[in-house]
Amino acid sequence: MATPWYQDGLRFACQRSGVCCTGEPGLVWLAEDEAEQLAGRLGLDGPAFRRRYTLTAWKDGVARLVLRDRPGKRGHECMLWDGQGCSLYQDRPRQCRTWPFWRRLVASPQAWAEAALECPGIGQGPLHAAHTITTIAADDGLPGKGV
Ligand code: SF4
Repeated sequence: MATPWYQDGLRFACQRSGVCCTGEPGLVWLAEDEAEQLAGRLGLDGPAFRRRYTLTAWKDGVARLVLRDRPGKRGHECMLWDGQGCSLYQDRPRQCRTWPFWRRLVASPQAWAEAALECPGIGQGPLHAAHTITTIAADDGLPGKGV
């Protein structure tokens, strides 16, 4: 395998800014097992959770679940954002767990630098090893090519 541009690792530590949970409208993709887990945490059955918390979005011709968002103080915010942080942080979807080591963001130094303009945690904190980043990016929770 080719040596990645981030062979010396990348720094990231969440600053709890909320910029990845609020602001521009976005899609948080949910796998079936993630939807079940979140429903359980909220004390809802699957259909009730889907009705209240999700919408269907299409990707590569496949219908998938996404979390709803709502108007908020900073534009839009994820329905699970409580104003301080993620209300179900321990069970947040894979897409949220793997931020910012998404395939498309670690694809090039330019993509990483653009993400850093939005996220104050990029470039902060511990150095994450290249092999760890590659492993995370390969299963980042985003459908298709991760865009
Ligand atoms: S699920 Fe939680 S971590 Fe993910 S976008 Fe929503 S509030 Fe943020």
